[in-house]
Amino acid sequence: MDIKIHRGQEQIGGCITEVSTATSRVFIDMGQNLPGVGEPTTPDEDREMVEGIFAQNRKEHEAVFYTHSHVDHIGLLQYVPSHVPQFIGEGGKETTMAKHELLLKTNKPKSTTSEVGLKEDDSQGPRESHAQEHQVILQRIQGFNTWERPKPHTAPRPIEVGDIRVTPYFCCHSAYDCYMLLIEADGKRIWHTGDFREHGYLGKGLMPTIKHYATDIDTLIIEGTMLGRADQCIHEREVSRRMALAMEAFKYVVVLASATDIERLASIKQAARLAKKDYYISNRYLRKTMSIFTRREASVSKGLFDFHPKFLRSSDANATMRKRGFVFISTASQLACVKNICKGIDQSELLLIYSAWDGYYKDPEQVKANPRYKLFREAFDNVVDIHTSGHADRDTLARVITAINPRESIIGIHKDPGTTLKSLDIPDDLKAKVKE
Ligand SMILES: [Zn+2]
Ligand SMILES: [Zn+2]
Repeated sequence: MDIKIHRGQEQIGGCITEVSTATSRVFIDMGQNLPGVGEPTTPDEDREMVEGIFAQNRKEHEAVFYTHSHVDHIGLLQYVPSHVPQFIGEGGKETTMAKHELLLKTNKPKSTTSEVGLKEDDSQGPRESHAQEHQVILQRIQGFNTWERPKPHTAPRPIEVGDIRVTPYFCCHSAYDCYMLLIEADGKRIWHTGDFREHGYLGKGLMPTIKHYATDIDTLIIEGTMLGRADQCIHEREVSRRMALAMEAFKYVVVLASATDIERLASIKQAARLAKKDYYISNRYLRKTMSIFTRREASVSKGLFDFHPKFLRSSDANATMRKRGFVFISTASQLACVKNICKGIDQSELLLIYSAWDGYYKDPEQVKANPRYKLFREAFDNVVDIHTSGHADRDTLARVITAINPRESIIGIHKDPGTTLKSLDIPDDLKAKVKE
């Protein structure tokens, strides 16, 4: 059994891992590089890179498995040879399809983009070619195989690819429907964490899952996003509590957040309720993801993920909003719409809650790659950062590694260059197994 990390050991995102036997192989994630990571690549270069990977080490049985639907894990799916089956959790498939359906509409000639709220970088090419690209991606995603998230206290079913078995285990992260994977091949057991954390509403299952299922592991492949960041990871509940205080202090509140982070959206919703404010959206993608979350999760989460935002069709605040105040949830692409909604409102009554990674506006490379977050902040006099990471903090990483206690090796992926798992507070014999 061979493990090859094609990409992702010395960078965050762009992950591609291959596990192979004499007859079979599986890839874990086929991720696009995040903006600001490495030299930007063209779609043709991405295609060539993926085709190059599939041209080597060919096997009779092949498949790709996705831990979750963030683009740094799934973004190269369209370049996977069409005869290779691709697998993802049901929720990840549905939200990704919704995204590309809207992008397809957005990029069709003569359509309008203002309400959709999913604009792309115009420098990439004309709309027609974007539309074609999204059509191709959509078709590929439609053909994805899925696994269902098992009910609590039920063991998930393994999926067989030749002589390799892959079993998905649900985990908490800042995307919807995320998984860790157990890969069994040639009598060895590999645990791949994907992206994960413990400090979200869904994170309480982390250690029980690890202790119950990540047993007799030979090799652990673990993400290390937070290795180089000393951030204190507050719990989502605390995010929500701080938001509620801010929402009570200002009449008009805009919250900048991600449309696929179900837990953050729940934090915002709960905070608005505490502050006795209605919450509004005008982004169709956000409306779609919230309706998917509500349909799939409202009852199993006892209402935590039950979303009923007020949808603004026009980009003007209505009389009720003006009178009673509001919480408006926005994505980074909606600055023009937000400016319209807030037109005439005195800046002293207006607050932006910035609920995203601060690197998007602090890191010059990130700002160069995508200036939207910085521009968004600059439109407000009052801004407060209320956020917590989607990734395990150093303490959680150490506890997970120690609990799994792999026999042979520990491989760090999804981490900044120069950072090491050896810097964690773990026993020396485990430090000696770190392969970087
Ligand atoms: Zn990632
Ligand atoms: Zn992720």
